[in-house]
Amino acid sequence: MVAATAAGLLMGQLPWVLFAALSAYVVRVLYKVYQIDQALFHGTRVASFATSGLWPELHAKVINIREKSRARKRRHLRLVRAVQESTSAISDAGVILNAAHEIVWFNRAARELLGLNPDTDIGTHIANLVRNPEFIEYLGGEQDQPLLVPSPVSESGMLEIQLIPYGRDQLLAIGRDVTHQVHLERTRRDFVANASHELRSPLTVISGYLDTLAYDDEVPSDWKAPLSEMLRQVRRMTQILRDLIELTRLESADEPASFDFVSPRENLERIASEYAARKPAPNLNLDLQSDAGILGTETEVYSIFYNLISNAVRFTPSGGRIDVVWDSTSDGGVFSVADTGIGIAEELIPRLTERFYRVDPGRSRASGGTGLGLAIVKHALQRHEGKLEIFSEEGKGSTFVCRFPANRVVERKVVSQSSV
Ligand code: ADP
Repeated sequence: MVAATAAGLLMGQLPWVLFAALSAYVVRVLYKVYQIDQALFHGTRVASFATSGLWPELHAKVINIREKSRARKRRHLRLVRAVQESTSAISDAGVILNAAHEIVWFNRAARELLGLNPDTDIGTHIANLVRNPEFIEYLGGEQDQPLLVPSPVSESGMLEIQLIPYGRDQLLAIGRDVTHQVHLERTRRDFVANASHELRSPLTVISGYLDTLAYDDEVPSDWKAPLSEMLRQVRRMTQILRDLIELTRLESADEPASFDFVSPRENLERIASEYAARKPAPNLNLDLQSDAGILGTETEVYSIFYNLISNAVRFTPSGGRIDVVWDSTSDGGVFSVADTGIGIAEELIPRLTERFYRVDPGRSRASGGTGLGLAIVKHALQRHEGKLEIFSEEGKGSTFVCRFPANRVVERKVVSQSSV
């Protein structure tokens, strides 16, 4: 009877006992989870929660993960420090820009070369700090070539800036101090220009005397051959000086070419008729597909046309053919000279516009070349924002293409009306 009563009582209390035991267990588990959370994400020491059941294994795993994470952090820190030290040792300015061209980071050299301030300039648009119209245009345009800009911190300084896109719309701007190189280049150019001008006058005098002597009947006949050779060499020197002066003028001009109306038709017909009068006349064909004009400097455009046609004539043996084309589209104007001459090996093409570079110096000199023609063409075209393209195959012929931008090409000459 007593036992039955006790059992009855116990049965009545059982849910409460079970509930209390379950609650204690849940609290214990929650406390362990809290400890794991603290150990994993808040760096607190791992307490000895691992005593029985699954907990020791979990404990070991937590410690392992934490050690790995700490080692990774230490590695990253070391790497960041190494990158920071190496970039601050670099003498070139390095600036990281985001997609909106705002400054994200820069190295120590950028403080000196660009005048950037780490306290105020992070997050600032780079154009607000490097206030140069060409740089701003460069920032939004094609960035395949470096840009030369005046230094924002020194009056006579010059910087070469190269933008390198990387990652997601990010840009790395590298700035190099090229003040010394620019100064040297200017000195070289001035020297060549001065020397050429100084040599011109004595050469004119020598050439005048030689001209008179070469055609003077009183000069002994055995002097004729040396005199005419001297005259030939003096004429060559005069031509080299003329080309050197022209090239230096083109290189030194700061402003782009003027915007005068130049008629390719008139200039090309003039050159073609000059060649047609030669004996033997080359097989030169003019194909004028457009009457559009070029907005530029007439002497420079003429020089581009003349140099390319004269090269085609000089490097195309008799029996060959030369096609000269002028055409215009909405993209701009295209002038090309294609010949069936000796051609140029592919690997030499990039060198052709260097001063005095010739594939065959003997052949070039013998045909009256100075080695400066293509350098003049390249610079004259650059002053018209144009581009030179060269296609050639050795033994088969060459094509030289000059592309003028749309803003330099007009459909017809606008004749200004004058009232009487
Ligand atoms: P050059 O006075 O020697 O012609 P350029 O600067 O005009 O000087 O040309 C440089 C070199 O390029 C030439 O010496 C020649 O080797 C090569 N070249 C130029 N045009 C042609 C062409 N149409 N065909 C073959 N080679 C050419």
